[in-house]
Parts: sequence; C-alpha cells; structure tokens
Amino acid sequence: RNDLLRKPSWIRVRSSSSENYYEVKRLLREHKLHTVCEEASCPNIGECFGKGTATFMILGDLCTRRCPFCDVAHGRPKPPDPEEPLHLAQSIAAMRLKYVVITSVDRDDLRDGGAQHFVNCIREIRVHSPTTKIETLVPDFRGRLEIALEKLTACPPDVLNHNLETVPRLYKQCRPGADYNNSLKLLKDFKNNFPHIPTKSGLMLGLGETDEEIMEVLHDLRRHNVEMLTIGQYLQPSIGHLPVMRYVTPEAFKAFEHAALAMGFSHAACGPMVRSSYHADQQAHESGLL
Ligand code: SF4
Ligand code: SF4
Repeated sequence: RNDLLRKPSWIRVRSSSSENYYEVKRLLREHKLHTVCEEASCPNIGECFGKGTATFMILGDLCTRRCPFCDVAHGRPKPPDPEEPLHLAQSIAAMRLKYVVITSVDRDDLRDGGAQHFVNCIREIRVHSPTTKIETLVPDFRGRLEIALEKLTACPPDVLNHNLETVPRLYKQCRPGADYNNSLKLLKDFKNNFPHIPTKSGLMLGLGETDEEIMEVLHDLRRHNVEMLTIGQYLQPSIGHLPVMRYVTPEAFKAFEHAALAMGFSHAACGPMVRSSYHADQQAHESGLL
C-alpha cells in the first residue's frame, strides 16, 4: 500500500490573488454555475481563473457512475435543465471568455447520454459569443454512441476531448462502467465525421500503470487518429479514493511528451500538474488547429 507516499516537492498548488481570479469567482456565484475547477478543487484554479479560462460542468453535479478516483458525487441526476444552455451562454458572454471547456458527468439515464444538451449549449454559446472557441470534454456515451455522435453533427465543437484516463488493464478497477475500446471508437468515429476538427484525449499517471502500458495507449490513440494529448499526475482527492501508487517525476513526464510528439501528436502537454483542460486554449493554438 502506498497511502503513505509523500507528495514530492513538484506537486504544488499555486495560489492566486489576481483581480481576474476574483472576478471569475464572483461571476460564477452570480450566475450559479458549476465548474470542474472548483468542484474538483483543481490545483491550477488560480492560474486558470487568473487567465480567464474555466471548465464548465453541465447536466448537473451528480454522476450515474462511481469511478473511485473521481471526486464528483454519485446519485440520481435531475432531468436536464432546459434553461441551462442560455444561462451558460449568457454567462460566458458576460465573462468575455475566449476559450471554454464544457464537460458533464456521465448520464447513463438519458437516451442520448446528454448529447443533445451539449449541442444546445454549443449552439447558444455560438449565438452569444460567436468568436469563443469551444472544447467539449464528453463522457463516453457508452451504449448510446451512435445516437450521441449523430446529435453532435448538428453543431459540433471546435475541439472534441474525451479522456481515456488510464490503461485498459486498470479499467475494471478505475473506470467501472466504461470500456476502453468504446472510448477509442468514440474518438475515431467523431474524427471520421469531422476530419478538420481536432480530437484530444488524456491520461492520469499514478494509478498502478507501467510506462510500457502508457506507451501502448499512446500508440492506440494515434491509431485512432487522436491529435492532442494531456498526461498529468493522479492526486488522491480523499482517503476514500484510490491511493496514489507512484509520483512520476517531471523529467519522466517530459520524456512522454517527447515520445508523443515523435509519434505524430500535434500537441502534447505532459507534466505533474497538467489537467485535461489545463492551458487548453494554448494547446489548441500551439498545435495550429484553431
Ligand atoms: Fe479548471 Fe482545467 Fe484549469 Fe483545473 S486545469 S482550473 S479544471 S480549467
Ligand atoms: Fe467521475 Fe466521470 Fe466517473 Fe462520473 S464517469 S464518476 S464524472 S470520472
């Protein structure tokens, strides 16, 4: 057991007191919006809010699944709020955000997994902030993949992100309810439908995987035409969550980044504090895809 693994010096929460940070916080309260940044106590919150970027959670804050690494609450979610797309779009316009990430809990209770609600949100944001770039970080739509992809055709995002999270051997333990091949298929099928829209995926290290297994996943992603990659360190949200099995050094993260670029990813962000949506705007621009 590695419960007693000590956090190394490179795991650091940067504090922020910039004006922008407080302004984003204030607007979030005023508009009653949920962000992953706050819900998951993301260590980058000071930096991201300071730069005016945030990851919004739609479709409620109760998930129909229970992944033991994740801090989102489990339960029976409410039906989608029909007012949410407009509300979200108006808030994004008021905050003058240039790049937003929209994500949701898993909605196995909905026939389309929530895809129509994603489309409604994208559409409203396009109306109210025509120049804002939208990245969607979608759930796996397992069992509803075809209908979900069809819905997204009506109003696709600028970047489609879906995280594999970990290596296939650990899926049963870490992502019960998910299926590795289904997630790869989602990424590949979306790319087939929209060859010009970048696809992106991410992994967390420290759940018990080996370096060789990580490399195999990177090859799988490239085989499924995924272009952008994020790899970060898993941090245990509470004692009740999966323990951290190892802390990967910043140098080892850099080595994964180099390997990924050599494999043909247009962009790879790999580092202890990297999260799926960390510097998302920068990642998209640097890869020349926006
Ligand atoms: Fe939010 Fe993502 Fe930034 Fe964390 S890395 S604060 S989740 S935008
Ligand atoms: Fe968390 Fe996503 Fe798993 Fe739900 S499906 S518990 S939101 S990781």
